[in-house]
Amino acid sequence: MKSINAPVTPKIEYHVCICTPWGGESFVLESEAELGAYNADPDAWAAKKLDLTRAEYVEWVESLGVPLCAGKSRKGSPCKQRVGPIQMSAREWKEKHRVTLCYAHQRATIRTINRNSGAQR
Ligand SMILES: [Zn+2]
Repeated sequence: MKSINAPVTPKIEYHVCICTPWGGESFVLESEAELGAYNADPDAWAAKKLDLTRAEYVEWVESLGVPLCAGKSRKGSPCKQRVGPIQMSAREWKEKHRVTLCYAHQRATIRTINRNSGAQR
């Protein structure tokens, strides 16, 4: 008998939603191997997808994508001041995070340079 409809071979597609500073972002896993890599360590998989280390990825999400100051407190802990807006892309965040100084640390650096060069205010 003649068929009008063709049979299909079902295709299974795996979709994942990784955490981001703006909620989440969906990806399609391309193979069973990629599914295995994702399930072995979802955060490491997400980090690799975004060209971050696993630790950077977690910090990017937990900071809501806000880059923080590169300076240190007097006790030596990292400065908690923001140096950019929230929800920056992973690439933009990585370029600024712990690279740029906040206003207070910029002023402190200028004072130190002036003191060391003997410059007057
Ligand atoms: Zn600072």
